[in-house]
Amino acid sequence: MERRVYIETYGCQMNEHDTERIFRLLEGSHYLETKDATEADLILINTCSVREKPEHKVYSALGRYKWLKKKRGTIIGVAGCVAQQEGNKLLDRIPYLDMVIGTHAIPMIPQLLQKIEVSGERVCETSFDQDGKYLKAVLPGRPLEKVKSYVTIMQGCDHFCSFCVVPFVRGREKSRSSKEIIEEVRHLAGMGVKEVCLLGQNVNGYGKGLEEEISFSELLERINQIEGIERIRFTTSHPKDLSEELIQSFSKLEKLCEHMHLPFQSGSNKVLKAMHRGYTKESYLQKVYHLKEVCPSLAITADVIVGFPGEEEGDFRETLDLMEKIQFDELFSFKYSPRKETRAAQFEDKVEEEVKQERLSTLQEFQKETTLRKNQELEGCIKEVLVEGQSKQSTQDVTGRTRSNKIVNFEGDLDLVGKLVPVRIVKAYAHSLRGEIVSD
Ligand code: SAM
Ligand code: SF4
Repeated sequence: MERRVYIETYGCQMNEHDTERIFRLLEGSHYLETKDATEADLILINTCSVREKPEHKVYSALGRYKWLKKKRGTIIGVAGCVAQQEGNKLLDRIPYLDMVIGTHAIPMIPQLLQKIEVSGERVCETSFDQDGKYLKAVLPGRPLEKVKSYVTIMQGCDHFCSFCVVPFVRGREKSRSSKEIIEEVRHLAGMGVKEVCLLGQNVNGYGKGLEEEISFSELLERINQIEGIERIRFTTSHPKDLSEELIQSFSKLEKLCEHMHLPFQSGSNKVLKAMHRGYTKESYLQKVYHLKEVCPSLAITADVIVGFPGEEEGDFRETLDLMEKIQFDELFSFKYSPRKETRAAQFEDKVEEEVKQERLSTLQEFQKETTLRKNQELEGCIKEVLVEGQSKQSTQDVTGRTRSNKIVNFEGDLDLVGKLVPVRIVKAYAHSLRGEIVSD
């Protein structure tokens, strides 16, 4: 019998990709995706616990679906980082919750679901799988409707930055074999995918613990040779581990897109030390300058945290100074949020909420101007755009991205989807570019 599954996703690209994998897995158990929670037989909330705000959203989402459990007997589950962190406590706290699926338990969802359907038992699976079986690809069985896809190359993190919960909820670093990754990318190319984004919390650590001696740059070289794949991206690289070999890949590999996401978190050496990041402002700047030397058109984006314990006005000024020097294309900025497992949660010298908010607003205002200015520099240029689909703003327009990951909207037919087309940029906005197709 055919059933429906609705998944609500919070958090990073890892979670977005896990949601895709869950949909594919569930197709084998005759659960098809619905976008309407009220008609679902199964509702899953795929959660994030990196900051307090997304964690709280889980509880309000669960509250929203309580009536559906009562009315239709909908099976309700929580997956992802909050599930991993809270485990059985979630079942105790939410009496109408049926399943808790930890970050390594995704492949077990069909069996767990069967258990619930047969016995009505409530289930919780949060053990860490040491063999890495949880990383196995769930390949699509039919052509995909999209032109780009994520591919997990590793999971977990060994860095233990003092603010970050990831090593606790995703476990230690674990890489997938290059053979499995290559097979997956080949399969995706066969299903119409043109662009892959390789995912890992610290892609530079790729290869650690594998029998085969292979670096991340070598993996990129192999993917660069796969027919049908036109573009390669990756996220995230840690500044401490950013190798010369990877920097040189930007001048060597024609499919590797000119975009690097390189979170810096703070511009103050005192704060970076307390964060346990393993680099200084100066070494970060040097790496970015070198990247720009090797690949002058490289777009640089990053993550930054304001209001880390002990951050004084002078430290915050150092962060602004680093931003001034680099001129980031885009920045993802966050107020520090204490996470109970982490070391920083015990630090004194907490920064007042009001001060954090003020610093965040100052920083975001500064970045807004930089982003717009960087986009305006592209006006009049011709850029290669991979067309992804119809634009949300108009049915006359299609949307796609430049190699530097900027969104471009322009007039065009849907038969352009999946194609690389030359587009002249005619107008820059804060979050996108307007273009027109160049016909020869
Ligand atoms: N592995 C990536 C790295 O090291 O750059 C980052 C992974 S984390 C999921 C994404 C971003 O969330 C981090 O770069 C950081 O800026 C932010 N973040 C993590 N923990 C945080 C916390 N406790 N409070 C505020 N922001 C946090
Ligand atoms: Fe978290 Fe640091 Fe690992 Fe990134 S490198 S996932 S911030 S512990």
